Amino acid sequence: MSDFDLFVVGGGSGGVACARRAASHGARVGLVEESRMGGTCVHRGCIPKKFLVYASHFHHEFEDAAGYGWTVGESSFDWATMVAAKCKELDRLESIYRRLLKESGVTSFDGHGALIDANTVEVDGARHSADTLLVATGGWPFIPDLPGSELAITSNEAFDLPELPERIVIVGGGYIACEFACIFNGLGVEVVQLYRSDMILRGFDMDVREICCEEMRKTGVDVRLNENAVKLEKSSNGIVVTTSQGNRLEVDQVMFATGRAPNTAGIGIEEVGVELNHKGAVNVDSGSCSNVANIYAVGDCTDRVNLTPVAIHEGRCLAETLYNNNPQIPDHRNIPTAVFTQPEIGTVGMSEEDARTHCAAVDIYKTRFRPLKHTLTGRDETVFMKLVVDRSNDRVVGCHMIGSGAGEMSQLLGVAIKAGATKAQFDETVAVHPTSAEELVTMYEPVTEHDPGVME
Ligand code: FAD
Ligand code: NDP
Repeated sequence: MSDFDLFVVGGGSGGVACARRAASHGARVGLVEESRMGGTCVHRGCIPKKFLVYASHFHHEFEDAAGYGWTVGESSFDWATMVAAKCKELDRLESIYRRLLKESGVTSFDGHGALIDANTVEVDGARHSADTLLVATGGWPFIPDLPGSELAITSNEAFDLPELPERIVIVGGGYIACEFACIFNGLGVEVVQLYRSDMILRGFDMDVREICCEEMRKTGVDVRLNENAVKLEKSSNGIVVTTSQGNRLEVDQVMFATGRAPNTAGIGIEEVGVELNHKGAVNVDSGSCSNVANIYAVGDCTDRVNLTPVAIHEGRCLAETLYNNNPQIPDHRNIPTAVFTQPEIGTVGMSEEDARTHCAAVDIYKTRFRPLKHTLTGRDETVFMKLVVDRSNDRVVGCHMIGSGAGEMSQLLGVAIKAGATKAQFDETVAVHPTSAEELVTMYEPVTEHDPGVME
């Protein structure tokens, strides 16, 4: 008999979720983690990132308070205090992860796991056999190969910098680049964001991309489009970045947020016959099974939708299928997501561009307004909301927002869209007043083809 029914390589969101659910159904589960239990989300991703987002918001909030009669005294930010508080909380979270695994009956190992054959994982010299293997090794930042790139940091290092830089260049236009540009800007750092193409946040609705870019610039982020880093050199005062436009920018730190690569090298996976795609991600079927019948993969190492709740969902679906006689295929449609820029983005469903290719006809409803709070603060920040409706059945197939609370709203709109809510049902829903969200149920007139429909 094998040592385990299931052996999981990687103790991040997907691996832990699958291991615990499998063990809850009586499976004998082993799991190996080579770094810190909890993975990227807990230690280098969502959680410490959100702490920094909160930290960076206070700057504006102190300023805004004046409009409401408050006098806020001298304020200053201490990076070391923030980092220490964050580290303490992450230690606490890691101990919770370890306790939950133990209480679920999962046997955890600390060390590097490598596949020896389709039924064996070696952890630092010790071999463990299992009927089923799960690869849940996540991803790692990718840095393009250009002169001086070794001088740059990635999001991994950004969380624990010895000191807050005064000036930073951030390269990239995706989630991480935009979020960190806003974080550093909010903390008082001079930020230049270089993006190689015409508009940041490729894949999102174009209105959202353009408005996000505009709002980020208003807050002070110097977003430069169609401009990339081509060379980094050390200087007496920091690092000089030469850009594709020939500009030379001297800064204290350069951060590459140029995507993440699946963590599949050096774990014996190809040697046992598992197929990877051109990016190194494990090729899996809809049930997360690789081409080797008893080897599965979930989360970022499969490069499907690289978000924590998706990795968890994939992991749990697999455990239900294998150990609870309850076959479940992970559903990657209509996944709500937020980008924690300032203001933040919340979105679910199809962009207008996608809907126009998938639906015979669409109606678009959109609005842009100054939120009530800022009528007294005077801050020049707007809220944008957009509903994309499939005209053939009146279903709301996409909802896209920018503004305070947009991430929270997208979670609930995800339920409505998943349930197949129609525009008529949105209209029938009574508003909550005074909120920004009420606009979602009071946009009665679609914009016409030639009408940008964006009201100031
Ligand atoms: P991971 O969490 O990366 O876990 C993989 C684990 O495997 C790691 O702990 C690694 O150490 C371990 N491992 C790798 N190889 C081996 C080996 N050979 N042996 C043993 N262990 C190994 N998602 C959101 O939904 N919301 C957010 O706000 C968000 N913010 C993010 C911010 C940043 C800066 C980053 C980088 C990511 C963010 N994400 C966010 C994405 C999210 O963190 C990932 O999608 C999620 O962590 C993926 O989970 P996973 O289990 O696939 O991989
Ligand atoms: P993304 O894939 O989102 O963005 C990568 C960016 O880097 C793109 O703008 C891309 O440009 C650019 N890029 C890629 N290669 C190069 C290059 N050689 N030179 C210059 N620019 C380049 O990756 P991120 O690293 O931002 O984030 C990884 C994933 O983590 C996200 O996709 C998301 O799934 C997850 N995440 C989720 C968050 C959340 O839920 N809030 C927050 C952070 C991360 P182009 O568009 O032209 O390809």
